[in-house]
Amino acid sequence: PLVLGIESSCDETGIGIVRGDKLLTNTVSSSMDEHVRFGGVIPEIASRAHLDAFVPTLRQALDEAGVRLDEIDAIAVTSGPGLAGALMVGVCAAKALAVATGKPLYAINHLVAHVGVGVLDGGKLPDNLGALLVSGGHTEILRVTSLTGDVQLLGSTIDDAAGEAYDKVARILGLGYPGGPAIDKLARTGNPKAIRFPRGLTQPKYLGTAEEPGPHRYDWSFSGLKTAVARCVEQYEAAGEELPVADIAASFQEAVVDVITAKAVLACTENGITNLLLGGGVAANSRLRELTAQRCAAKGITLRVPPISLCTDNGAMVAALGSQVVMSGAEPSGLKFAPDPSMPVTSIHL
Ligand code: ATP
Ligand code: MG
Ligand code: FE
Repeated sequence: PLVLGIESSCDETGIGIVRGDKLLTNTVSSSMDEHVRFGGVIPEIASRAHLDAFVPTLRQALDEAGVRLDEIDAIAVTSGPGLAGALMVGVCAAKALAVATGKPLYAINHLVAHVGVGVLDGGKLPDNLGALLVSGGHTEILRVTSLTGDVQLLGSTIDDAAGEAYDKVARILGLGYPGGPAIDKLARTGNPKAIRFPRGLTQPKYLGTAEEPGPHRYDWSFSGLKTAVARCVEQYEAAGEELPVADIAASFQEAVVDVITAKAVLACTENGITNLLLGGGVAANSRLRELTAQRCAAKGITLRVPPISLCTDNGAMVAALGSQVVMSGAEPSGLKFAPDPSMPVTSIHL
């Protein structure tokens, strides 16, 4: 089916169009620049920016795909999780389009869409897939028994998401917002072994053993790491020494990526999962891509990592999961649903 996908959960207004698992266009407008001076996304500003960007982005997407609105078979929209006001703009726009065109509307989970986007890069996803979802608001390891029918949470962060940790540490280091790309770049010139930062929830009391798992065997924690970086910076400042910013960035990144990949691979091997998909905005990170590939290869896990433009928030991922949901024969969502800012990852669509 020809599916139009709409994404507005945070600061990206995304419109994607797919035919089955073939990408026709992925058009994104970001309000990032308007949030930079605040050091983070301001919900009210993001909502207004979606309102401004929606129609031009839609027009551009239809243009690029060479598709007319009346040719679309179904409309898919992010219904959560995300910022309430931002979600509302995309959902209202999607409902208006559905009414105007008479096409069925599907309310899609943004997190599962970060996984479903994998079909655009290599076709149908294997059954019994593992998904390592690393984004601005989430860090999770999932078992995707069926992309359109059964997603389970195996482990997650108990405090900050990885992307959140990148953004907070970048702020501490004075690297500006968004922090992820800045740290990624700077870390390439630093020594990842310069400072041994803590790896959260890796002590035996949390890990346990395969036979007797501890309380957080597949979980992560990044808030202690963030505090450790802040302490380290304070010590340099108190001593009046120049801050080795690149070494701190590289060492922080190594701590994040080491523990994410180690636990993801552990969860896969102990649960008979032989295929892993890496997704979410932080999957754009070069070191995370590299170490995940190395560790999966060492354990015989087949890894799929979508291109960076499909990892950060976009409409194509919503269209991609939407088209899989349509093909599964699921009922459309109707026009009565409301966005759910805290939609759980186990709820694939409404
Ligand atoms: P969620 O998907 O959990 O609702 P979100 O949609 O806001 O959250 P994404 O857009 O998926 O998050 O990811 C944004 C995050 O990715 C930000 O925290 C940003 O710093 C981080 N990020 C982007 N590029 C990189 C990179 N190269 N290295 C590390 N982090 C990155
Ligand atoms: Mg964003
Ligand atoms: Fe996202």
